[in-house]
Amino acid sequence: MWPAQDYTRLTIESTRALQHELMTLDNPARVVVDIRGVDLAALQREAANKVLANDPYVAQMRVGQFKPDVVRLVLDLKAPVRPQAFTLAPVGEYGHRLVLDLYPVDPPDPLMALLREQEERSGQSLLQQPPVVVAIDPGHGGEDPGAIGARGTKEKDVTLKVARKLKQLIDAEPGMQAVLTRDGDYFVPLHMRVAKARKVRADLFVSVHADAFIKPHARGSSVFALSERGATSAAARWLANRENESDLIGGVNLDVKDRYLAQTLLDLSQTATISDSLKLGKLVLNELGNINTLHKDYVEQAGFAVLKAPDIPSILVETAFISNPEEERRLNDDAYQTRLAQAIVAGIKAYLQKYPRGGRSTIAANPSRDRNI
Ligand SMILES: [Zn+2]
Repeated sequence: MWPAQDYTRLTIESTRALQHELMTLDNPARVVVDIRGVDLAALQREAANKVLANDPYVAQMRVGQFKPDVVRLVLDLKAPVRPQAFTLAPVGEYGHRLVLDLYPVDPPDPLMALLREQEERSGQSLLQQPPVVVAIDPGHGGEDPGAIGARGTKEKDVTLKVARKLKQLIDAEPGMQAVLTRDGDYFVPLHMRVAKARKVRADLFVSVHADAFIKPHARGSSVFALSERGATSAAARWLANRENESDLIGGVNLDVKDRYLAQTLLDLSQTATISDSLKLGKLVLNELGNINTLHKDYVEQAGFAVLKAPDIPSILVETAFISNPEEERRLNDDAYQTRLAQAIVAGIKAYLQKYPRGGRSTIAANPSRDRNI
């Protein structure tokens, strides 16, 4: 179980495909899933103590034999939810998965949260004093650990730590505010990360990752932007494919994803945005070069799904190689995480100074994004 304010996920992993039927019941509010092909005793054993006290939506879970070949799983709810159930074919380390996502009926509004945070900080609303909003995206999370180092460091943990430091530093800058696309150990589908950034009308998007390679000597920081055509190198294409696998491993309900993509992302030219992304990437790369070896000394491009916001300059930072023993050690070091965050912020500030609001093509091309309207 992966409880979070955004949604709570329950996953049942099995050696064979599971058939399911989903229902919601009222008085008291509960979600019921009837599962065919699963062993009651095994599920009872696995379900014990899985619901955490801090789960925002689930109070408790009960399991029982409903029919000879059907096990019934009942979740007693703390708040009304819109449940989604779907199955995933085996991928990576995982077997067949049955996934139950419980989305709140009244979802937290990230823009309202941002406005509240801003008011608390300055006593002024966002509308009176528009800050630069930076969406910080900690890569991976939940069932998607990302790359794993030789000493067991998970990319998803490092990215969250660096991202939280980044948010702190950005929030401390006058006129700047950061929003995290996830603030906990749970999975956020790639298109949702983009959607969150657009919802808070982010000016910039920075996805934080840690690289990995089969050979342990590969090292250094790199920065990537989206490519509309092909990748700038075979290595960049390989990396984008690997990062895009996040959705497969983390587990995405394809019905919902396809609907979202059909609505928002098709047929929008991203040329101007990519040009800005490259400028931002170059300046962030310069700063990273002060604290680490650069894996490549220019911004590479490939088809990263998480960089596809049509109207927000977006970069993906591979902070260092988690597969390199020395860099894995540094990625775990609190002081080094701070230096990484400081370097990224310095790059962002250099970009904002060099290309002030109004001078940036994406802002000019998107008057509807003006917060004063
Ligand atoms: Zn990654």
